[in-house]
Amino acid sequence: MSEGILQPDQPETLEGEGKDLFSKFDDIIAMREGLLASGVEDPFNLVMEKVLSPTRAICNGRETILLGTYNYMGMTFDPDVVEAGKKALADFGSGTTGSRVLNGTYQGHKEVEQALKDFYDMDHAMVFSTGYQANLGIISTIAGKGDYVILDIDSHASIWDGCAMGNAEIVPFKHNDIEALEKRLKRIPEGAGKLVVLEGVYSMLGDIAPLKEMVAVAKKYGAMVLVDEAHSMGFIGEHGRGVCEQAGVIDDCDFIIGTFSKSVGTVGGFCVSNHPKFEIMRLVCRPYVFTASLPPSVVATAETSIRKLMHGSNKRAHLWENSKNLHKGLRDLGFQLGTDEPQSAIIAVIMPDLERGAAMWEALIKNGLYVNLARPPATPANMTLLRCSLCAEHSEEEVGEILRIFEVAGKAVGII
Ligand code: PMP
Repeated sequence: MSEGILQPDQPETLEGEGKDLFSKFDDIIAMREGLLASGVEDPFNLVMEKVLSPTRAICNGRETILLGTYNYMGMTFDPDVVEAGKKALADFGSGTTGSRVLNGTYQGHKEVEQALKDFYDMDHAMVFSTGYQANLGIISTIAGKGDYVILDIDSHASIWDGCAMGNAEIVPFKHNDIEALEKRLKRIPEGAGKLVVLEGVYSMLGDIAPLKEMVAVAKKYGAMVLVDEAHSMGFIGEHGRGVCEQAGVIDDCDFIIGTFSKSVGTVGGFCVSNHPKFEIMRLVCRPYVFTASLPPSVVATAETSIRKLMHGSNKRAHLWENSKNLHKGLRDLGFQLGTDEPQSAIIAVIMPDLERGAAMWEALIKNGLYVNLARPPATPANMTLLRCSLCAEHSEEEVGEILRIFEVAGKAVGII
């Protein structure tokens, strides 16, 4: 190309001017502008003006049923949890202002780690500032250059980012496909370090992993196993330990990752493990060392919530009822769902395309129901989904109301 002539489709970078680093976002900017130009309410800019309970809020001036939060066990307004947070705020102040390895370990951090060890009946527990950082930290520290991470293609962003940060060889396999996992494991050079990363519940479709078979395959090839139980902790399994407990493989999991931002009802992340050398992670795991620790009020609410979740079997049973009722009701109305049977507290409703998905989302919110609109690239197979996540505090009547709103909106948009 001759110098000095700007081609029409070239970015207009003049001498002395750099490339606009935002140009890589032009497609997504155009897509978003196109969606908003159609006049729909912005599904990614909702404000909760007041939160009335785990299942109700005032959104955009309307009282709204919440069916798109991760508040599975409804702990956010539990009086003991709220009281513990208030007390810690008064006794220890608003923040630690430091890393766990310097001035940021308070009594409360040790207590919440003890609560996690008791909850999972495991030897070690390490608390991070978010679940995202727990995956980032553990995966990148365990699997370094020359090691292999074998992961489900639909893994959460924090898992992919942990792989990239650690510089390990990344070997993805087809979602929930046991044979594909085995094929990949077979090809990895003998003697190499191998970490298989799985999730208990996959949050887009709400389906669970065949952990019994997958963990057995991983062990057959000498791999370590990490399971992210973010969406199952507190709910699935006899003691709420997750899909690994339900599948009877918890003793074969080397690391369980979880979060406080879902069933626990606050913020934070963790890893529990029985590995005898696990404690060294506190010194070598960068996303643990190089960031401030959680505020005292947060760890106090988390500890209280985790201890209460140990006795949450009635709530777990009610949440299963809600999940079954919503799944059946939506299917009977004629909606296409992400799973044939309810497998978790997430029920995904598959939309024909983004435009009708956004229209349906808007019709629901205008009728007083909030769900998550999920779209590519966050979703598998380029699907547009309305993700419904249930709470143990939704009453049977509320589930009935939710179904009535879905019926009205679905008919108005022409989806059913
Ligand atoms: N893992 C999974 C599977 C998740 O879905 C999420 C959050 N949605 C995380 C980890 C990160 O959790 P946190 O919100 O605590 O960062």
